[in-house]
Amino acid sequence: MSVVAKLLCFGLSASTLGSAGSSNPNYCVDQNRRKIVQTVYPVNEVKVLNKIRTKDKVVFITIDDGVTVSDDLAKFIEKKLLPITTFALAGELWRNRDWFTQRANMTFENHTNTHAHMTLIEPEQQIFEICRASQVIKNVTGERPVFFRPPGGSWNEEVRESVGRSGIKYLLLWNVQIYRGSTSMAGRTSLSPGDIILLHYTPSLKNDLKILLAMIKTAGLRPALLRDYLH
Ligand SMILES: [Zn+2]
Repeated sequence: MSVVAKLLCFGLSASTLGSAGSSNPNYCVDQNRRKIVQTVYPVNEVKVLNKIRTKDKVVFITIDDGVTVSDDLAKFIEKKLLPITTFALAGELWRNRDWFTQRANMTFENHTNTHAHMTLIEPEQQIFEICRASQVIKNVTGERPVFFRPPGGSWNEEVRESVGRSGIKYLLLWNVQIYRGSTSMAGRTSLSPGDIILLHYTPSLKNDLKILLAMIKTAGLRPALLRDYLH
């Protein structure tokens, strides 16, 4: 398997596509300029979610970046049978591919190629960041991502449009964060069904997960996989 994603993203002009009037006529294409995504979603079909609407007593553990992993963390995750939605950067996913691909009950989603601040780059670059990362995820895990999470939660309508043009229908944010022992949940004191919790692959992740599991237990909830709750 080669990490060199056989992918280029071109920013085609409106005249090239013969679609004058289209504000951003870009999409993922391969090296032969074939469109590589089956479905391109119009901007109004791209859902922006920071919480999942559900009556089930579930919350969603999402972990970003993928920089620090360890055998100790693997043991902890497996002992607790934790379902985890991972948003690893393309390079970190590749670097730690042996660790990640051994995890059960984990899905791999798109968090860009280089942790780009999406609202500060041009649409063609936005699409490149997403397409490139999707291709690396497909190469490493065999599956394409379903969700896109912009680094820092930075998005606008232009980013949303680029997400759809890159073949992803869900722009996923969060409403609870635990980072190096500190919890932020916008004034609330306990978790609710459908909460999307953001953590990071840092050296303190195991401790952050312990804090989270205690909160989940107190609230009478259980963790679930986001992909099982698409709507
Ligand atoms: Zn990040």
